[in-house]
Parts: sequence; C-alpha cells; structure tokens
Amino acid sequence: MSASTPITQDVLTLPRKPAEDDGRANLIGLTRDGLREALVAAGTPEKQGKMRTDQVWQWLYQKGVRDFAAMTNLSKDYRALLAEHFTIEIPEVVSRQVSADGTRKYLVRIAGGHEVETVYIPEESRGTLCVSSQVGCTLTCSFCHTGTQRLVRNLTAAEIVGQVMLARDDLGEWPQPGRHPKDETRLLSNVVLMGMGEPLYNFENVRDAMKVVMDGEGISLSRRRITLSTSGIVPEIARTAEEIGCLLAVSFHATTDEVRDRLVPINRKWNIAALLDALREYPRLSNSERITFEYVMLDGVNDSDEDARRLVSLIRGIPAKINLIPFNEWPGAPYRRSPEARIRAFADIVHKAGYASPIRTPRGEDIMAACGQLKSASERTRRRRPAEAAASL
Ligand code: SAH
Ligand code: SF4
Repeated sequence: MSASTPITQDVLTLPRKPAEDDGRANLIGLTRDGLREALVAAGTPEKQGKMRTDQVWQWLYQKGVRDFAAMTNLSKDYRALLAEHFTIEIPEVVSRQVSADGTRKYLVRIAGGHEVETVYIPEESRGTLCVSSQVGCTLTCSFCHTGTQRLVRNLTAAEIVGQVMLARDDLGEWPQPGRHPKDETRLLSNVVLMGMGEPLYNFENVRDAMKVVMDGEGISLSRRRITLSTSGIVPEIARTAEEIGCLLAVSFHATTDEVRDRLVPINRKWNIAALLDALREYPRLSNSERITFEYVMLDGVNDSDEDARRLVSLIRGIPAKINLIPFNEWPGAPYRRSPEARIRAFADIVHKAGYASPIRTPRGEDIMAACGQLKSASERTRRRRPAEAAASL
C-alpha cells in the first residue's frame, strides 16, 4: 500500500446546511456564564437564567441534540424563542479517512471555507482525539508540515468544541437517555491539543472550549485527560495551569539553543533556559501529572547519545516523561527519520536516567494523519524564507 493510498475514504454527504448568516448566534462554545448571558439577553427572565442554562447545556453537551425542537422539557414557546435567536452549529465533516490501524482522520470545513484536520486514535485502553486550534500556524518549525502553511486564522471556541462533538457523532457516542458512560468505557476518552496550530497563540478560545469539554454535566472529560502541546510560548504557560488546569506537553526537540533555534524557531524568542524555568514552575498535583517532553527523532540532527545525556541533565528536577516521536515524513521534508536502533539507544539512556521514554508508534501514516503531517490541502503551500520567519517572532 503506498503511503498516499487511504484504506477507506468515504466522502460524506453533509446532513446539515451551512449556517445562514441571519444574525442568530451559535450557542456552541459558550462557557456556562456566556450561555446564561446570551439566554437572558434574548429574553429569558433573569431569575430563570440558571435553570435555563442548565437545561439547554444538558441538551447540547450531554445528549448531543442539535435541534431546539427536540428539547422536550422546554415549553413550545421557549423553544421558539431559542430558535429565533440562536443556532446550534458545529463544523462540517467534508471527508473521513480510516487507516488500516483504525485511526480516523476528519477533514473539517469551518466558516470562510477553511479546512482543518482532526484525528481520532483508538488504543486498547483509551481513544484519543487530536484537535486543531488554528488554521495553519504562525510558527515555522522546520520539521512540521503545518509549519509550511501560513496562519490563516484562529479557530473559535465553537470550532474547537465542535471537533469533539463531530467525532462523538461519528463514533455514535452520545449517551442513551438515563445512561452516562464512565470514562473507561468511552471511545473518546482523551483530548490532545496537538493538531494544527499553536494552542497558546489562541489562548482564550482554547480555554473556553476546554471548559466546555471538561464540564461534568456535559462531555465531562477530566482535566487529566486533556493534554495541551506547546512549542514553548513561555508567558502563557503559567496561565495554562491557572485557567485550564490540563496536562502540558512541550515540543522540546533539541538540547542546545543552536539546534533548537533551527528546529523550533520560537526558541530565538524564549530559549531553552527560559522554557525550563517556566516548566519548573508548572504546578502539578501528583506524579501522574508529569510534563511530557516531546522529542522528534531526526537522523543525524538531534539523536546522538550526547543529546540524550544532555537532555536528562537539562530537565533534572522536573517530573517528566520523554515522548520520543519517530519523524513522520511528508513530501519535500528536509529531514529523515532516525534509524530504529538509534531511537532505541537514545530511549535507553533516557530510561536509565529514571525517565519513562516511550517511543511513539506512528498512527495513521497511510492517511497522512500522523503527528506533524496535518495540513489542509486547500491552503496555499508556502515555505517561508528564513528572514521572514525570524521577523515574525
Ligand atoms: N503547535 C503545538 C502543537 C501541534 S504539533 C506544538 O508544536 O507543540 C504536535 C506535535 O507534533 C509537536 O510535538 C510537534 O513538534 C510534533 N511534530 C510536528 N511535525 C512532526 C513530524 N513531521 N514528525 C513528528 N512529529 C512532529
Ligand atoms: Fe506550529 Fe507546532 Fe508545527 Fe511548530 S510544530 S509549526 S508550533 S504546529
């Protein structure tokens, strides 16, 4: 099977019409406070605000209902009021590809005709959804496919929550009335903000979306089942702990500033020392809340024994696990994946120093769904010139 041939590809006919721009506001993605304000502004009596918010919230996020008419515990008049002022809109799935290993990649269309990708990765004991936060990325990490695409725009909170909802739709995972699945039986049990974009450059929308996803009366994923991956936007790291409270992963990838400057150019703004200082401050409640250091294995670039030893000495004192990611190639990529034996030798040094060092098995490679392969074909490909990339830092 060639790398570009998907195992199955079903182009879905869209069940919903795109939202008409008729001035009605989308309720998806509002926090509870935001939903309450919207309902009151539309004429809900102030003293009913909390009750109505609770009711609508449960329909949206516990039952997955997309039609006000189906909200049967609300009076006909109130349903009509809601339909007059609001919509319930999640992004459209344009196509879905299913890999030989069960990974599903959704091409998702958002307002403006832009596209992002969302990937579902089933594993034995959990199912992880890899969610995008931006169309493209302002950063230009030299090994990342998304980095060859300009930033087009930030996703809204609705578009971020919507990715979780459309995956639950596809997996048939909205609970039946009166039944709420426990975490361990869930098909979609974890969310990683590791799709397209730098989530900490879209902080408020990512935060609000995760508040919706974590809410116990709705999708109800624990904060410990959400991992945000950043390339190292140092000033936003403390806020991530305070305002979202999820787990953190950091795209580390190099052990000297000289190499990290080339791989992750944001390092020229916040270097390794500044990043490590911020990570040392990241609060955690238990050992299971270690920081994940992501480290892409690039042949002859960052994969020597010396690198492995430098890595463990740099992170000493930080409860951490090191996730080694064999480089996923994409057309025109300037790097090669480190040989397997090299990756194992690197992992061994890290492991002997006392850190878990799992080697990430690439998933969904046959459908270009693996880490760093995401990119919307609809957007213009453009490799930025280095001077331009540096100027944008
Ligand atoms: N912008 C965020 C999150 C998205 S990238 C970040 O950079 O952390 C998710 C992870 O995939 C990051 O660790 C990133 O460095 C890694 N990645 C990007 N391109 C890759 C590639 N071609 N092969 C393997 N990992 C890659
Ligand atoms: Fe952006 Fe992350 Fe890719 Fe870097 S690795 S270009 S920050 S998406």
